[in-house]
Amino acid sequence: MNSPFALRTPFVSGVHPHESTTCSWWFIFEKSRLLVQSPENESVAICTKDPEQLGLQPIFTRYLGKYATANCFVAALGDDHPELPGMEFRDLRSLFGTLDDDIFCLAGRAIQIVHWHREHRFCGKCGSIMVDRRTELARKCPNCNFISYPRLSPAVIMSVIRDDSILLARAPRFPAGMYSTLAGFVEPGETLEEAVSREVFEEVAISISNVQYVASQPWPFPHSLMIGFTSTYASGDIRIDNQELEDAGWFSVAELPVLPSKISISRLLIDNFIKRFDT
Ligand SMILES: [Zn+2]
Repeated sequence: MNSPFALRTPFVSGVHPHESTTCSWWFIFEKSRLLVQSPENESVAICTKDPEQLGLQPIFTRYLGKYATANCFVAALGDDHPELPGMEFRDLRSLFGTLDDDIFCLAGRAIQIVHWHREHRFCGKCGSIMVDRRTELARKCPNCNFISYPRLSPAVIMSVIRDDSILLARAPRFPAGMYSTLAGFVEPGETLEEAVSREVFEEVAISISNVQYVASQPWPFPHSLMIGFTSTYASGDIRIDNQELEDAGWFSVAELPVLPSKISISRLLIDNFIKRFDT
């Protein structure tokens, strides 16, 4: 089964623009904000003009791939650029539900390329200026041949079910009243299942069993891949890690707190728990 966070229309990534396309989409970023056509109603549209047509001089541009009949490109701007009538830069997260879902996903791919370019301008081995490879999505050092690929940080996120309750926790940074599932980055050398068990034990001192994969979700804030699991409580009493959390508890479906938005896989894991009680 495909992830509900996958593109609905196939996307062919590549390094050179495809010839048989009817239009272009430009994912143009100023810092982490995406250029969109200003909305006359609730929905906004991605830019279809290239930076030159808009009088912009991007720091870099890169081909992203072909989506349906559109060639997709990414571009990053510096601080100085002219005003763009009828257009605006918007924080990517704020565009969830406003942009078409697939375009939002593609923007997530694009912003990760932007971050990677910005953070890998110099070779990590010898300090020389890196240059784009035109044969693959990579940057290469002309001095020592070190190759840098886009950075991707795998993170596990998991529901823990105990009879008719789900384990939810809140971090101090969460909006008031909101609780979510636990999550954390995978450490070098461990399996995903080991990461799931370790994170749960580190954060709430609970042991779990029956770790089952559910779905994955690219999370471009800034470069995570969330890998979602469900698991079953095995033993222990909740004792929270005060560095990470301010509260955690077992919640039945009748007494759920404020939940995360549907933008995230945490909500999918919680909704899967809720569905068990659908009549
Ligand atoms: Zn080098």
